[in-house]
Amino acid sequence: MSAAILTIDLSAIADNWRALNRLSTCETSAVVKADGYGLGAARVARALAEAGARRFFVAVAEEGAVVRQALGPGPMIGIFSGHMDGDTDLIAAHDLTPMLNSAEQVLHHMERMPAQAFGFQLDTGMNRLGMEAAEWAAIRGISLPASPVLVMSHLACADEPDHPMNARQLREFAGMTADVDAPRSLSATGGILLGKDYHFDLTRPGVGLYGGLPFVDARPAVALDLPVIQIRDVSAGETVGYGNTWTAPRDCRIATVAAGYADGLIRAMGPNISLYSGDVPCPLAGRISMDLISADVTDLAQPPETLSILGPGQGVDALADAAGTIGYEILTSLGPRYRREYRG
Ligand SMILES: *Cc1c(COP(=O)(O)O)cnc(C)c1O
Repeated sequence: MSAAILTIDLSAIADNWRALNRLSTCETSAVVKADGYGLGAARVARALAEAGARRFFVAVAEEGAVVRQALGPGPMIGIFSGHMDGDTDLIAAHDLTPMLNSAEQVLHHMERMPAQAFGFQLDTGMNRLGMEAAEWAAIRGISLPASPVLVMSHLACADEPDHPMNARQLREFAGMTADVDAPRSLSATGGILLGKDYHFDLTRPGVGLYGGLPFVDARPAVALDLPVIQIRDVSAGETVGYGNTWTAPRDCRIATVAAGYADGLIRAMGPNISLYSGDVPCPLAGRISMDLISADVTDLAQPPETLSILGPGQGVDALADAAGTIGYEILTSLGPRYRREYRG
């Protein structure tokens, strides 16, 4: 056993979808972009389809092709980047549904694929993707008769419930779509938690499905166990790792495991995390290096065969805090060297 094992709990992901679906006063889709937030888009999408999801979203058309292969015909697969140059063949071959985000994309789509389902993406203040009010006003008259399957926008501050931006974007979205006769969607995970005013006809959770904040009630969906390569005795006063940053305060035993920052275990989190043997924390000894991490296992009764870095004692958001980032980045950085094992 040489590779670290990333265990992905598909039943936790399905439960998280069901919980967010219960909180949503409308249909609930599933966002599986970035390879299902690092957990494997095909497996995750199949589990979510079994739980009841009928609409899926990815960032770009290439990801949509993977999800279509996993799901077969039927479910909608929406593309947040819309219909970009060069996407037409993929959209046709895999029956993808682009969320058109500019007048240029609308014309491009109507010209090339007048019969292919599409949605509109509006910008309500985030200034990232989508048509602003003036552009929308100019094209809606000619494009609404083409019957979009969705009109959507995205919230910039939904993980901060008290942020005034939420209400501002809600007002803007309601205004821009007041007389639109098509299903509407505004909310991702954070927006679902803001309450039913934000739900419209479809919610689009991503990170909450995978056990991340802001969905505090999520079931954790990942565990990561790292194999111990070597255990050594280190005398008081000796140092461990690059830069001699850690000095043994007593005679101790140091275990070195096979994973490092090349696997998405961000170097900066080192001083703030532990590895775990069951529920016993083993503090890191020295810096996280590219392929290796060392930890002080002196207090364990038995020499460990593996140590865990993601599990009940330390979740995705704890690692994120330790690195000064967000759970989304921890999940989507989980490395390709891990052996992915699926449960449930
Ligand atoms: C990523 C994304 C989502 C999902 O967001 P989460 O915060 O992960 O729930 C929904 N909609 C759009 C447009 C996105 O880019």
